[in-house]
Amino acid sequence: MADKRDYYEVLGVDRNADDAALKKAYRVLAKKYHPDTNPGDKEAEAKFKEASEAYAVLSDPEKRRQYDQFGHAAFDGSGGASAGGFNFDFGGMGDMFGDIFGDIFGGGRTRSANNGPQRGSNIRTSVRITFEEAVFGCEKELELTLKDECQTCHGTGAKPGTSPVQCTKCGGKGQIVYTQQSLFGMVRNVQTCPDCNGKGTVVKEKCTDCYGTGYKSSRKKIQVTVPAGIDNGQSIRIRGKGEPGTNGGERGDLLVEVVVSRHPIFQRQGFDLYSTSPISFAQAALGGDVKIKTIDGDVLFNIKPGTQTDTKIRLKGKGVPTLRNKNVRGDHFVTLVVQVPEHLTSEQKDLIRKYDEISGNTLKVGEDGKEEKPKKKGFMDKLKDSF
Ligand SMILES: [Zn+2]
Ligand SMILES: [Zn+2]
Repeated sequence: MADKRDYYEVLGVDRNADDAALKKAYRVLAKKYHPDTNPGDKEAEAKFKEASEAYAVLSDPEKRRQYDQFGHAAFDGSGGASAGGFNFDFGGMGDMFGDIFGDIFGGGRTRSANNGPQRGSNIRTSVRITFEEAVFGCEKELELTLKDECQTCHGTGAKPGTSPVQCTKCGGKGQIVYTQQSLFGMVRNVQTCPDCNGKGTVVKEKCTDCYGTGYKSSRKKIQVTVPAGIDNGQSIRIRGKGEPGTNGGERGDLLVEVVVSRHPIFQRQGFDLYSTSPISFAQAALGGDVKIKTIDGDVLFNIKPGTQTDTKIRLKGKGVPTLRNKNVRGDHFVTLVVQVPEHLTSEQKDLIRKYDEISGNTLKVGEDGKEEKPKKKGFMDKLKDSF
């Protein structure tokens, strides 16, 4: 994973490639390296996977944006992986393959016989966390209904003392192959056997404990380690907590999508934080230390005299930890907004009027209703005044 190739390089497209160009490039590679066309060729298989991964990311506008911004670090949590393991979820790949392979192989993609060990399906769920929990990471406990192999029949679904028998419809293959005449010649179609649902065996006498399903469901508590820096919509993969496999296949995974609540003060973009912070007119004019709220608590920041409203300051390393290394953090950008006081005491008003007079800003209206230009004192006048 360390020297992973750039996704654009993998597909051989430039960084501005549009969807059509990406799809075209991927189709060429997928066709060339597909396992069906290169049986047993490990290198072709690796190239196929590499291209598929690149396409899965770049064809998804949101993932592509993340990749453009953070590179592989956006998805690969190997550096900062904690117990439970963090993995970017390439959800929706199944749909994409259906789409692409429908194109390439004319819909006639054959699957290997599926009455061997089959991995269980993945389960998707979500967990809501606070903004701070996403920034600093947290531990969450989920309660889910999970299927387990029935202890009475050991997952076969058959009544103890009996065993499932070979399906007569498919002869134990789990699928039915039929050929059809089409405009382009004979087309071979493969269908999962409807009688045994692809298992190749059928249960004659059902296990009474699981009603022949082979599974029992129960509520389970699952600990989820949410890594620091995770963003809204990303998923955590927990291996082996999905549906049980069939015919001795391994369990699928549990994919936990993280839903992050909004924060009243901070907005997040990638690993940077953004906020606005009020400063008083006097602070803006005179400069000095102002208190700024950060995700780590209040910090003092020294502003220079004459700071204007909408001045942007950058607090380095006060942003969100990166997934790869939680000690490497983004920045916090603060927009300073000068507050104009709304309610003044008469003393405050007097002082401000006085300030305004000294500054020569007070508007004087003469008897003719026109503005009387204040007499600006020249150097000589000031000199005279001082005596
Ligand atoms: Zn059972
Ligand atoms: Zn069958």
